[in-house]
This record gives sequence, structure tokens and C-alpha cells, in this order.
Amino acid sequence: MKNKAGANRLESILWVLSGGIGVIFLFLGLGFLILPEVFAIAFFAEPARAVGINSLRGDFGALFLGMSFFCLLGTLTSYRWLLLVPIVFLGFVITGRLISFAVDGLPMVMAGTLISELMFLTVLILYLIFYSLKSDSQSSSPVLKVLYSRQFLVIAGIVIVLVAGAFMSHRQIATRLWEKVASGRISRQNVFGELPDGLHVGLAGTGSPMPDAKRKGVCTFVKAGKHLFIVDSGPGSTLNLELMQIPLGDIDAVLLTHFHSDHIAAIGELMLKAWANGVRKNPLKIIGPEGVDTVVNGFNQAFSFDTKYRHAHHGDAVAPLEGAGGTPETIKVFNEDKGTVFFQTNDLKVTAFLVDHRPVEPAIGFRFDYKGRSVVISGDTLPCDSLRHQAEGVDLLLHEALQPEMLRVMNQAGAASGREVVANVSMDILTYHTFTEEAARIARDANVRHLVLFHIIPPTPAAVFQSAFVGNSKKYYKGPITFGVDGLLFSMPPNSTKILKKWFL
Ligand SMILES: [Zn+2]
Ligand SMILES: [Zn+2]
Repeated sequence: MKNKAGANRLESILWVLSGGIGVIFLFLGLGFLILPEVFAIAFFAEPARAVGINSLRGDFGALFLGMSFFCLLGTLTSYRWLLLVPIVFLGFVITGRLISFAVDGLPMVMAGTLISELMFLTVLILYLIFYSLKSDSQSSSPVLKVLYSRQFLVIAGIVIVLVAGAFMSHRQIATRLWEKVASGRISRQNVFGELPDGLHVGLAGTGSPMPDAKRKGVCTFVKAGKHLFIVDSGPGSTLNLELMQIPLGDIDAVLLTHFHSDHIAAIGELMLKAWANGVRKNPLKIIGPEGVDTVVNGFNQAFSFDTKYRHAHHGDAVAPLEGAGGTPETIKVFNEDKGTVFFQTNDLKVTAFLVDHRPVEPAIGFRFDYKGRSVVISGDTLPCDSLRHQAEGVDLLLHEALQPEMLRVMNQAGAASGREVVANVSMDILTYHTFTEEAARIARDANVRHLVLFHIIPPTPAAVFQSAFVGNSKKYYKGPITFGVDGLLFSMPPNSTKILKKWFL
């Protein structure tokens, strides 16, 4: 009698623990499904690129929800043997972690998680053993029978030998793999060169001066037929241009909207890479408002040592000195509404127009028209009539965007923690940028076909904050709004209304 009471109590404890594990997995599964990037932080699994969010929701969500489903089903129904499913998954998860500790050479940052998983595994195994002992052999699970079978043991043995062999010859595999990866990368087909005729606008940097782990400094490339322009050159953006396989040697000109550091910091690197990697025979043309010569000559001077080094390393075949550096070209923009057309062919027209980014004067935006398609890039500005006028009926409006409510929260947090610089800057920038909802109103008033928000202030560390950032914009503008992320490409075929959006990084 006593034994039976003890057994019942143990069963109740195991039942509660096993159900609790199912609930924890349910919480994690729903978390990855609903707030993937937030939950990814706890697992050090934040995606390197924006599209990784898809795997977080899909793969991580499925793993935890699947384990939860079978854990709860095995606990709450009489099909106790279903607990084998989470046991098998936990076994593989733990194996993966142990292999990682052994071969990756990284600190054991996930040790706490491993201990929890080991505890979960122990509870579930104990519960299943308890259940097996309690049941008579007639009712034992068909799955258990499979596990005891000779075929299963042979297959498991083969898998273990293969995995062990793969790890023992890790280095040889890595060397072979590198041969494939390196030749694959170098001979990778140039997707950029194969883009069909049309107006293509790529986001190579969508950040602002505020540090953002997911965004490089502001930079956009525009390909119109055979012509290629880069608009602004924010910090780190040249690396994104290279990752996107943009042929830097073919750039017609770099266009600068103004000279805040977040729009010009990468010019030196861009000039150098366009010359030494792109084999330019003439300096990169850099077009901007008055003052562009000071900026470009300064970068030329700062990079003059490296120019000599590169030439000494590689000689004239790769780095001919006559192609080094940049040549400034000033655009004077007088007429606020009409702007200044500074580049024109039969099919392509590029216009610069004044915007209002005081005290930065002049500050300009750009409009590209190519075979019936058009894009306006705002630069940095308060809402202004010249931009509204230029954006009239364009296919794509790339507008800078600032979310004031989110900044106000930062201001309060800065003030509360005594960080006065954060508190002050977060208030000052409200006076020289456009609020998200104002950008939406401009897009509505100008009958824009598609609004893209970029130059994102403040940085949004996870996709979940996008809806807070966009706020009530959809109330004002009924067209599509894209929250800009690095790597997006918008393609507009000639004389059509289509705007194709794809991933390009
Ligand atoms: Zn600015
Ligand atoms: Zn800026």
C-alpha cells in the first residue's frame, strides 16, 4: 500500500514537471512565432540579415511548438510514449551544443541553457521509464518496440559512425569546402549585370547617425539602363555595395545630398575600391551642392598615402594612378520647384532639387526619370514643398523617416539615467527631419505609387518595432509602405506600372 502511494506521488510530480516543460516549450514556440528577434537575443541567434527573420519564425518556432505539442499530448493523454518525440529532439539539441563546445572554440555562453535542457531530458526520460515499468508489456508503445529493434540499432550505429567520421576529418572537409566556396564566390555570376532594362533602386544603407547593428549608413544605388549612380555614401555602405556585387568601376557618379557625416563618411573607401578593385581609368565623379570640392579634396588627401601603396602593390594593370581618387563637381540649384537637371540622355534625366535641412544649406534631393519610370530620393529634410512638387506622381519615393514618439521615450530614458547628450540629441533632431506620418502625408499629396522609409531614426533593433515606427502612416497613405532595410532592390520595368521588390544582399 505504502509503495503504491509513493509511486502515485512520484507519478504526480513527474506529470506536473513534464506538463511544465511542455508549457515552457509552448511559450518559446509562440515567442519565436510572434516576437522572433526578441526571443533570438536569448539564444544568441539574431539573424545577420533581415531575411533571417523568416527562419526564426519558421524553424525555431516549429522546433519549440513541435516539442511542446508532443510533450503536452504525452502528458495529458494516455499516450505517454509520445514523450519520446521531445526526448529525441532534446537529445539532438544537447548533442549539437556539446559538439559546438568541443569544436567551435567559443566560450560556453549557453551552459545555463544546456543545464536546463539536460534537466528537461532527465525528467521526460524518468517519466517514460516510470510509465514503462508500470505498464505491462502488452501495452508498451510501438515506438519503444521500434527503438529496441535490430534495424533501428543498426541505422543509429551507422549515423553515429558517420557523424564521428565527419568530425574526425573536419579539417579535410573544411579545406575541400573552401576550394568550392572560394571558386564559387570568385566565378559567381554577376546578378547585377543581368538585371533587365529598367529603373532599379537598391538600398545599400538605410541607417542614420545613430548606431544600428542592422543598418549601414545611408546609401542608395540607382541603375537606369546602362547608367549607374550612387546616392550618398554613409558609414560602412561601400561594403554593402560590394556584397551586392555592384560594379564600382562602372559608376557614372556619386551624388551627395549634403555633407553630414552619415552621408559622406565612406566616400574615401568608395573612391579607393572603385579605383583599385574596379580598375577605373579616371577618377570617380562626385557631384554635390556647394562645398563638395572641399569634401572630395579632403578625402583625396586623406587617402593619398593608400593610393601610393595600392599602386606599389599592384602596378598600372590594377591601379593606374590616373584613375585614383575623386573629382568634385558642384550643382547649383536655384529654382526650388523645377530643380536643376544636371544629367540627361534620350532616356534618362536626373534632377537635383532643394530641400529644407537647415542649418545645413544647401541640402538637396534627387529625382531620376527613366523610360516612363521615376524615383525621388529625399536626402535629409523637413517636410517641404519642393520635394512634394518633385515627387508628384513618382513610382517610388524614398523618404527619410523619424519616429517622434519612439525618440521621446529615448529622451526620457536618457534624462532619467543622467545621459544628457542622449536626452538633448534625441530632442534636437526632431527639428530637422521628417516624421514618419508626415512622409506618409507627402506620399498621399503627391500621389506616389510606393513609399519607402529609410534613414531610420531611431534604430529599431527588431522587426516587432516596425509597426510602432510606421505608426498611423497607413491612415494617411493608402499605397504600399516599405520599411527600408539594407539589401532590398526595387525594379521598375520600362513603361509599366509594376514595382518588383526583391532581396539583393
Ligand atoms: Zn543630415
Ligand atoms: Zn542623415
